[in-house]
Amino acid sequence: MSDSKIIIAIDGYSSSGKSTMARRLASKIAYRYIDSGAMYRSVTLYALDNDLIAADGTIDTPALIAALSDIRIDFRPMPDGSQHTMLNGRDVETEIRQLRVSDNVSPVSAIKEVRDALTAMQRRFGEEKGIVMDGRDIGSTVFPDAELKIFVNASAETRAQRRFLEMTAKGEAVNYEDVLANVVRRDHIDETRAESPLRRADDAIDLDNSHMTLEQQDQWLMDQYLKAVAR
Ligand code: C5P
Repeated sequence: MSDSKIIIAIDGYSSSGKSTMARRLASKIAYRYIDSGAMYRSVTLYALDNDLIAADGTIDTPALIAALSDIRIDFRPMPDGSQHTMLNGRDVETEIRQLRVSDNVSPVSAIKEVRDALTAMQRRFGEEKGIVMDGRDIGSTVFPDAELKIFVNASAETRAQRRFLEMTAKGEAVNYEDVLANVVRRDHIDETRAESPLRRADDAIDLDNSHMTLEQQDQWLMDQYLKAVAR
C-alpha cells in the first residue's frame, strides 16, 4: 500500500448523509475534512446580514460579487474533535444551518463568480492532499483528478426526514413538509443551474444509503478508501 495521501471527493444530494460520512472517515484516517456546503452557506449568511438579499429572495448580484474579496472563510478545530465554520473570524456554525440560510443558499450558489471564488479556496485546501471534501461538484469540477470519488444518494423523503430530525433535535421549530419542500427545491436548483450543476462525475462510485446504518456506511466508505490507496 502506498503511503501517499489522496484527495477524497464525496458529492451528492442535500441531506444525503455525505457530510457525516466524510467527517467520520476524515477523523479515522487523520485527514482534514472540508465541508464545501458550509462555504456556500457562509457566503449566503454574509449576503443576508448585509441586506444583499431582499425579502422576496432577490439577490443584489453585483454587490455580492463586489463583496466576495471581503469574505474570509475558515474552519476552526474544536476541543471535541469537531470543527466550526468561521466567517470573517466569527463562529457561524449554528447560524449557517438555519432555514433562512437553507432557503437562499441555492440561488447564491448558482452565481458564477461565487462558485469561482469558492472553487479557488477549495483547491487551496487541497494543495497538500490528505483531505476529504464533500459537496455537489467536488469530483466533477473542484478536483477532477481526485483519487477517490463517491456519489451519495437517498430518496428525497428519507433525506427530509433526516434533516427534520436533526433540526428538531437542535430545538428548531420546523415542520416536515417545509423541510421536504426545501430539499426538493434545492435539488432542482442544484441540478439545473448552468454553472457546474450537481452532477455525478463519470468515474464516481455510487452509494444509495437509504437503508444503511451509520456503521454499514462507515465500513463501506473505509473499504473504498483502502482500495483507492492500494491502487
Ligand atoms: O451541503 P449543504 O446542503 O450544506 O449545501 C448547501 C447548498 O450549497 C447546496 O444546496 C448547494 O446549493 C450549495 N453547494 C454547491 N456546491 C457545493 C456545495 C454546496 O452548490 N460544492
